[in-house]
Amino acid sequence: MGYEDEFPKSLELFKRAEQVMPGGVSSPVRRFDPYPFYVERAEGSRLYTVDGHILIDYCLAFGPLILGHAHPEVVEAVIERVREGFHYGTPALPELELAEKVVELVPNVEKVRLVNTGTEATMSAIRLARAYTGREKVVKFEGCYHGAHDAVLVRAGSGASELGAPDSPGIPESVAENTLVCPFNDVEAFVETVERFDEEIGAVIVEPVLGNAGCVPPDEEFLKVLREYCDGTERLLIFDEVITGFRLGLGGAQEYYGIDADLVCLGKILGGGLPIGAFGGPEEYMSRVAPEGKVYQAGTFNGNPVSATAGLVTLEILERERPYGELSSKAKRLASALEDGLEDRGIEGVVNRVESMFQVYFGIEEVRDYAGVNSADHDAFKRFHMELLERGVWIAASNYEAWFLSIAHTEEDLERTEEAVGESLDRLTG
Ligand code: PLP
Repeated sequence: MGYEDEFPKSLELFKRAEQVMPGGVSSPVRRFDPYPFYVERAEGSRLYTVDGHILIDYCLAFGPLILGHAHPEVVEAVIERVREGFHYGTPALPELELAEKVVELVPNVEKVRLVNTGTEATMSAIRLARAYTGREKVVKFEGCYHGAHDAVLVRAGSGASELGAPDSPGIPESVAENTLVCPFNDVEAFVETVERFDEEIGAVIVEPVLGNAGCVPPDEEFLKVLREYCDGTERLLIFDEVITGFRLGLGGAQEYYGIDADLVCLGKILGGGLPIGAFGGPEEYMSRVAPEGKVYQAGTFNGNPVSATAGLVTLEILERERPYGELSSKAKRLASALEDGLEDRGIEGVVNRVESMFQVYFGIEEVRDYAGVNSADHDAFKRFHMELLERGVWIAASNYEAWFLSIAHTEEDLERTEEAVGESLDRLTG
């Protein structure tokens, strides 16, 4: 049976979507060949498709759902909140409580601005860094994706990599030339670049774990060098923790790697599955943000009480249950199943993992940067992805995304996934 036979209703819906939405989707990473399936509902670790399939979900909406889908406590809190109205455009308790929680949990954050997406968070953090330092150039790293805005859509990972068009048409040269791009994990190239443009650089932005090229951990030295370069007040180090925030632990990558950032961007888990973003840092920087300071940032839906409630309850559950050891060992188990599966079958490949996020790369022995990810065998990955899907396991359809674990994944899920991994690898060799 082919995909079209398995997902006929999805095909009908997708054909309708293609008529009214570019590429038939609301965001490029959701598109895969021949067409994406439609989901009716989701609960725990499972997606229920309109075609009647039940899938074990390791994409988890690209990271936010660390508690799994529709966690009962979050659902209840959200429903209660919604009954009180959706949004007021005035201050309300949920945003205050969430901001206090972020300040409590995230190192080096004394003040935080809640926004609606990770994109807005990085855009505003870069504006703030430029304003504070009076310098315009920003250093970013190949494969790091910081959202879909002009300053950072240069050699970005995620969907931009898939399209083979990292530099989107429509981004003015004058904007792109202020973005300097270095290879991830390459201290030498970084030092060369910053020496060349030193006086002009106001910010260095990085995904501490490169999660938009799958899962590429930072070398120990790499983050340290970035930190040292940004010491002082002439340039700010921005950690984009939209993925790693509350994923590597309650204190995110700063705590995990023991490196302080000047500004931190958050999103995904922060909203517990509802739209949100945030950027924060010490009073010294954040007091420059309007209306306290002159750096303008605003949003009709900033601090939305429903998103803030979902986020707050999610963080409270994470704080109460401290599930990080458990999440990590679940991920380790699946990563080992992949590693052993590759080895047993003599398939060349490597699995990179940091805590509860990981990715497999075929046809390559080591991946420590974007170039490595680019040279992996993506055809093999796509075939593997479809084999897994056929066996009821859903991972993101791109080698530039990660597998994520949630507290909702059960022993049975893991067993079924281990089996599916083995069978799918067999098919790759068969
Ligand atoms: N930063 C990182 C590290 C991300 O992974 C993403 C989204 O995947 C973003 C920023 C942008 O966040 P959003 O999609 O909420 O705008």
